[in-house]
Amino acid sequence: MQFGEEMPELTWIQPGLIVYQGYKAKVTPMFEQYLDAKKQNPTALLFFRNGDFYETFFNDAKLLSQACDLILTSRNKGKDGEDIPMAGVPYRTINEYLFQLVEQGFKVAICDQLEDPAQAVGIVKRGITQIVTPGTLCDDRPGYDKNARFLSAVVWHDISRLKTVKKAENAGEMPLCSLASIDMSTGYCTMTELRTLQALQSELLRLNVRELLSHHTAQDEALENLLHGIPITYRERDAFAQQTVLDHWMDDENEGNYAFMSKEKFLSFIDLIDQAHFEMPSLVSEAFCGLLVYLRELHFPLTDNIQQIYPYRAESYMQIDAATFQNLEIYSTLRGNQKNGSLLGELDDTVTGPGSRLLQNWLAYPLKDIKQIRARHDAVEELLGNFECRDDLRKLLKDTADLERLSTKIANDKIVPSELVRMQKTLQIIPSIIERCNACQSAYLKRSATQLNALEKLAQTIDSALIPTAPSNLNDTNFYKPGYDAKLDEYREISENGQQWLLNYEVRQKQETGINSLKVKFQRNFGYFIEVTKSNLSLVPKTYVRSQTLVNCERFYTPELKEYEEELLNAETQRSTRELELFNELKRLAAAQITPLVKNARILAHLDVLSSLAHTAHHRNYVRPTLDDSSLAFNLKGARHPVVERFLPKGERFVPNDIKLDDDGRLLIITGPNMAGKSTIIRQAAIIALMAQMGSFVPAESAVIGIVDRIFSRVGASDNLALGQSTFMVEMTETANILSNATDKSLVILDEIGRGTSTYDGLSLAWAIAEYLHTRIGARALFATHYHELTELANVLKGVRNVSIAVKEYKKDIIFLRKLVDGAANRSYGIQVARLAGIPNEVLERAEQILETLEQNGHQEFVQTPEKPVVQQVTHQQRNLFGDEPAPVTSDPRMQELIHELQNLSLDATTPIQALNWLYKWQKKLRR
Ligand code: ADP
Ligand code: MG
Repeated sequence: MQFGEEMPELTWIQPGLIVYQGYKAKVTPMFEQYLDAKKQNPTALLFFRNGDFYETFFNDAKLLSQACDLILTSRNKGKDGEDIPMAGVPYRTINEYLFQLVEQGFKVAICDQLEDPAQAVGIVKRGITQIVTPGTLCDDRPGYDKNARFLSAVVWHDISRLKTVKKAENAGEMPLCSLASIDMSTGYCTMTELRTLQALQSELLRLNVRELLSHHTAQDEALENLLHGIPITYRERDAFAQQTVLDHWMDDENEGNYAFMSKEKFLSFIDLIDQAHFEMPSLVSEAFCGLLVYLRELHFPLTDNIQQIYPYRAESYMQIDAATFQNLEIYSTLRGNQKNGSLLGELDDTVTGPGSRLLQNWLAYPLKDIKQIRARHDAVEELLGNFECRDDLRKLLKDTADLERLSTKIANDKIVPSELVRMQKTLQIIPSIIERCNACQSAYLKRSATQLNALEKLAQTIDSALIPTAPSNLNDTNFYKPGYDAKLDEYREISENGQQWLLNYEVRQKQETGINSLKVKFQRNFGYFIEVTKSNLSLVPKTYVRSQTLVNCERFYTPELKEYEEELLNAETQRSTRELELFNELKRLAAAQITPLVKNARILAHLDVLSSLAHTAHHRNYVRPTLDDSSLAFNLKGARHPVVERFLPKGERFVPNDIKLDDDGRLLIITGPNMAGKSTIIRQAAIIALMAQMGSFVPAESAVIGIVDRIFSRVGASDNLALGQSTFMVEMTETANILSNATDKSLVILDEIGRGTSTYDGLSLAWAIAEYLHTRIGARALFATHYHELTELANVLKGVRNVSIAVKEYKKDIIFLRKLVDGAANRSYGIQVARLAGIPNEVLERAEQILETLEQNGHQEFVQTPEKPVVQQVTHQQRNLFGDEPAPVTSDPRMQELIHELQNLSLDATTPIQALNWLYKWQKKLRR
């Protein structure tokens, strides 16, 4: 059962017997608890705690066994009941299953035992303690996912626009919706408003959103199509109201069970949103409230781990739409969806979790403000030049813990002793980091030194309290250092001496009774006792009091043992009470420092990212780009593609290229044979602009770039079957999006536009699109195309320039020079490329023959000799396209027949072999 699917109703057949999900079952008290929990959370898979297991029943059991490959068993509910399906997981390993389930889009409600079964009178009380969803479960097991995992809430201003999902939109007058998002593992909470569906889609992708909450009254297909499988929960608009949040407060104050963000804090956040210059601030705060209310539904405390919120306007950052984000393979590769081979994979040399998350964030949100960009570049430059400082910083950072997530755990009262130790170790590293930063010149690094706070007192206290190997389980004892607390030491001494006393006592009893196998033992329900095997019973002295008889032995106590036991158990209880007290005190101390802790985490993350960028720049030979916010400059010398250059086959070297866009050529038409490197070069231009504006150095000898407001790309033809759109439709939607939203400050790369339809359609569209980009928008653009006809544009439009990627012919082969040169490519070298691909020689020879004929009889006289009617007809159409004079049509019936055939030939449905056969047939006709 995925999100939103309701469980079927139950029906009573007779008192004590029901039919539920098609099974007849007897209603026991425990089963009533089950049904009750299920009723509260009908759309979630219910994990029902029973002893050492979480059990699932009915359909849930079937789903669980399928999703996690578990054995489906059954349980008989007694008289008149049927066998009902059941599947369970051991409570200790529950996390593994939860991750598997949320990855598959399930929501899981966890119903726990609320009291100790040993102490319970009657049936153990149970209740829902947590609902786990894809957007909120965080994987903080060491060595696992350090990525952020966002839950978002969307509030629509104009929901009717969802109907246009399949169309590109112009940014409307009013924002389309507002979006608030939170990563529960760190409490990082952002909010913004979005003008188009494309912008929403891009935002969800950039944040890597795993779950969406939407204010809808019913399921919405259009929205679901837009989201590509991100699970959605729908709530009435009420759930997004400020008042609903405030009401929750009232309820909870009465219950008093939860930790709170204070009401003041909540209202100050709302204030912040109001002041953030949104066009519709009330929608933004609604989205924020929706998140909070939903988190309460999931049984998160309302929710102290949000320390700061980040309202931002999408326009403040370079905008990258979803298709471009995927095409440029920023987070993951198009094929295989891997980080390795993506830009992130190439750039991420961070050494901490928070650093890695921040780098990802920088990549998705490149800056537009030149001052901020320069500040980042300054820091990277300094760290690049100062190897020692960089190396020191990276070594120090490597030993720091994920302070962001630890702070969140402190705020939520979930921290355990081992984590406090890790936090303290991190704090102890901070002074050395401050020292390194203080020695730096650039403002960014210097400022870090003043903003970091080593929290010496807190670190010292934890250090004096906890042993380095403190456990991650609070039930383990003995994790305090001796000397930390006098009382604790005293209890500990009693209980440790007590152990010794018992050992001595055992030895003494053995000696006194002469029973060598005698043992002094402890059991929770009986306390301490002396155990004597049956064969030795005759030796037991009178002073022993019999307490229990077992098959092979009997158990006794003595007044002395009982007395000691009491003292000992007292000390034990007092000790564990004291340990808990002390730990709560430590947690309180840490919680009081939450603000500087969170700030430390952010700053360490920044240092990690900056030194990672410097590290990469050093190893990959990147340079500092020059940015300019008053021009549309784009001048790269010796530029490389950062990923392709790293993944070339052995023995091949990447050939750097100059890419220049200026008034003589703001739009470059790039031609060249297949495989020459056209796609690579236009992508590298876009990627370098993005890298420059995120604060990274770039793979080039030099780079001057006028700030880019948006990057658009339409690369290759990819099918979007999920949306039920044809390749061509997708291609055109994306192109439409570019044409409606690009500005003169944008950078547009187009790769083989128009390929998805018949040649003339495609060519005409490509022509018109290029013209529009050039004349109406004036964006900087790179246009890779196999339509040689497009090179004509350079003759017509001032800002269009032809470049091509050079190749050399060697005998019958083609050698790719990978060099971008001025002027259009003169041929397409299809046959040579086909040879490289292993097309059989016979076909190649035949093709060469045909090509030769065509070139002799047609191509050269293509324009000049109207007597060659075959080619003329083709010429007629092609030139017509560009407004030239139409050529006369032939009156020869043989020719007419041939022309008719040619006209009706569907090239899309014709294989190369069939095409050759046609050519062969026509040639034969002509030679006749
Ligand atoms: P096109 O789009 O012209 O068909 P691609 O850009 O897909 O060609 O490039 C094809 C292959 O050529 C790439 O996968 C890469 O291995 C190689 N290549 C591209 N550009 C370069 C270059 N500048 N130096 C070396 N190899 C390159
Ligand atoms: Mg290509």
